[in-house]
Amino acid sequence: MIYLDNSATTQIDEEILDAMMPWMRDFFGNPSSAYALGRKSRVAIEEAREEIAASINAHPAELIFTSGGTEANNTILKSSCIESNLADALVISSIEHHAVSHPAEWLASQGVTLDILDVDSNGRVQDGWQDSLRSHRSLISIMHANNETGVIQDILAIRPRVPETCLIHSDAVQSFGKIPLDIQQMGIDFLTLSAHKIHGPKGIGAMVIRKGIDFKAHQHGGGQERNRRAGTESPALIVGFQHAVRIAMREMDARSMHMRSLQDRMRSLIQEHIPLARINTPENASLSLPSILNVSFQHIHDGEAILQLMDMAGIAVSNGSACVSGSQQPSHVLKALGLSDTEAKAAVRFSFSKHNSLEEVERAIQELTTVIDSLS
Ligand code: PLP
Repeated sequence: MIYLDNSATTQIDEEILDAMMPWMRDFFGNPSSAYALGRKSRVAIEEAREEIAASINAHPAELIFTSGGTEANNTILKSSCIESNLADALVISSIEHHAVSHPAEWLASQGVTLDILDVDSNGRVQDGWQDSLRSHRSLISIMHANNETGVIQDILAIRPRVPETCLIHSDAVQSFGKIPLDIQQMGIDFLTLSAHKIHGPKGIGAMVIRKGIDFKAHQHGGGQERNRRAGTESPALIVGFQHAVRIAMREMDARSMHMRSLQDRMRSLIQEHIPLARINTPENASLSLPSILNVSFQHIHDGEAILQLMDMAGIAVSNGSACVSGSQQPSHVLKALGLSDTEAKAAVRFSFSKHNSLEEVERAIQELTTVIDSLS
């Protein structure tokens, strides 16, 4: 099988698994327990917190572990509007992951003002929306990089143009570990991270909450995570997350160069062999992640068939968000870029990791060419 769906999830590194195992098998103490076995877990968690926080230039106390990106997004949006009462309005982009757009829509159904920002044909939010902000207590949630096309937003441009009383959140699940991230330089208040997109374990992520924000738990229970997220922490998953971050930081430049070369090769093969294809990932390298290439076909009416035939050819790809694949819904991201329903259904997202090779990319495009010919 050729696995080209690394934006859905990645294969866990052997080295990371090895680091996790003792925390499942031997050191099973509850990190909240006061005796030595518990304290050992606590120390491991706090060391991981320090290392992960340092990777994005945050203070360790600002990093709260969650079960992943979905929980972090839900908690940040819902607690800001409800439990913490920090915001009475939400602004999101039209291409957010459902882990942001669905809680935002739910909050709107509860009376919170919601504005959804359009994007241009590259998928970028255009400056200027700040002038019509409806509340000076808005929470603005704009993702750093999109999971379907890889387009990167200009997060740095937000802070200088909105009142200091507004809060800014960015979902960085796709960009974290792939391109440099510095929460202080970004001038934002909340950030969402996840481990399983960078060869770490599933079920662990984090929300970063800027120091000084009076943030209250959304999930109630014990007093873990500084009273901001109840529930026994998992030392094994947290240590796995720490190691995934450590390796990603060390290898970031090499991985990025490698994935960019795969992306470039794939782009030129598609342009050469499939003339009716439309590539939805911006060509300018500063506007896109190196790890994703999204392509759509306006003349194909059965989008799902593309994925099924690719699967039969031994190539694992998706049409965007793993959560919507199989549901036959046109991608909301591609529709926001101006694509028709048909075109937004007939899309393939290729996403790369350090494990992929040029040969795999060439094979995948060979198969794609055959599949598209057979469906045309
Ligand atoms: N946000 C984005 C941009 C994603 O791509 C994903 C996962 O695909 C999530 C959030 C959800 O993260 P998790 O799978 O850790 O819940």
